[in-house]
Amino acid sequence: MTLTATETWSRLLDRARLELPEQTYRTWLEPTEALELEGDTIVVAAPDRFAADWNESKHSQYLASLAPLALGHPITIVFRVDEERKTRPQMDLFVAPPPDQARQTAPGDAPGVQLSARYTFHNFVIGKSNELAAAAAQAVAAAPGKVYNPLFIYGDTGLGKTHLMQAVAHEIMQRAPSTRVCFVGTEQFTNELVAAIQKRSTPEFRRRYRETDLLLLDDVHFLKRTEATQEEFFHTFNALYEAGRQIILTSDRPPSEIPGLEARLVSRFQWGMVADIEQPDLEHRIAILQNKARLDHLELTIPEDVIRFIAEHVRSSVRELEGSLIRLLAYASLKHRDVSVSLAREALRDKLRLNGDSTADEKHALSVQSIQQLVAREFSINVEGLRSKSRTKQLTVPRQVAMFLIREFLGLQLVEIGNAFGGRDHSTVIHSLERVQSLLASDAPFNGRVESLRKSISDLHT
Ligand code: ADP
Ligand code: MG
Repeated sequence: MTLTATETWSRLLDRARLELPEQTYRTWLEPTEALELEGDTIVVAAPDRFAADWNESKHSQYLASLAPLALGHPITIVFRVDEERKTRPQMDLFVAPPPDQARQTAPGDAPGVQLSARYTFHNFVIGKSNELAAAAAQAVAAAPGKVYNPLFIYGDTGLGKTHLMQAVAHEIMQRAPSTRVCFVGTEQFTNELVAAIQKRSTPEFRRRYRETDLLLLDDVHFLKRTEATQEEFFHTFNALYEAGRQIILTSDRPPSEIPGLEARLVSRFQWGMVADIEQPDLEHRIAILQNKARLDHLELTIPEDVIRFIAEHVRSSVRELEGSLIRLLAYASLKHRDVSVSLAREALRDKLRLNGDSTADEKHALSVQSIQQLVAREFSINVEGLRSKSRTKQLTVPRQVAMFLIREFLGLQLVEIGNAFGGRDHSTVIHSLERVQSLLASDAPFNGRVESLRKSISDLHT
């Protein structure tokens, strides 16, 4: 039997998926597509240059190593840019769907175990902000249905509720593999229920949910206000509770603050233990990043001061912390530069800005003018010349470099850059950026000069 390119590729991906971190898989491999298979070489399209390079350097060898088992013969993998999608903005890559959504089963599927392998206690870093929730979860894992039933965990998004809830399931299943675990998002639960009512199959729906030993209902603040949904859930809850089965619920707020939640459900949710998770403090954020780096074998790639920098500047959630790390690594690979604080500052520019982090001073220090000044000084010319329309070679190259660095550090639009250089049009700016790009690739001394400018610019706001 010969497999098509698509079949071959999906066999490899199916295996990789079992082993790679979910985020990695979704960000880099899911958006790929097999193009052709010739002999033992498979050509695979990635959405842009960046993804193609990253996959080539990080994943092709690994994927090839799976071939003997997955396919029964060795294979060579070549990544190529998908021409049709080449125009996609590179940063799209970093917007992976939230894990909670991506993992849901289709409505109508038996409620199954859709646990993420990474969401274990071992991978969960405990600190002040989640101490209580973690301790309660561990107690529940040690004696399901006995101590806190239900366990209700609440907190803002991205702080580890789903992780902790699944950690309990992993722990219990490791001890008692035959435990019937059901992990379900509340939206899915509700959708299935509505479908069951329409198809007049509610008895079947009930049986499925009530025949479980451990029910994990995630994001219960999405429970519909409709009477039928709450009624059904109330009975499911009671049936499980009375049978001594463990129930764990998560929500973005405490039970009493969930709008439209019936009083009898509010009171049941409070029967066991209600534990909140708060934002981690600085030390905790550092520990989480260190842990993450260790899990991904990146301790050597990411220096301590970079970890600290991210922890100090990204404060919104653990999910954001993780996202920042991934983005930084991808950026480093794109730019072929080592991971450093100044690189982190560039890579995470948007996030830092979103966090309201660029102080007035920084904005002042890092500006079009300051970059122009540094470039002018480096090439021993004056700033007026740099901004002028003169085309002498002595001015052209520094001007192109200044445009390039302004684009890189400030992310200005082409038109804005043109305006900063005496009103040049955007095609001139594009030409300049391309010219610098090609000089960087071909001219080592030039490359060194630009690199030292990058350092000086980064120092401006350190
Ligand atoms: P929530 O369900 O509260 O929105 P998640 O459980 O999905 O948040 O967590 C978001 C991400 O952050 C996950 O990748 C999770 O593994 C990670 N995470 C959250 N808290 C911690 C922690 N204390 N230690 C390690 N990783 C964590
Ligand atoms: Mg969640």
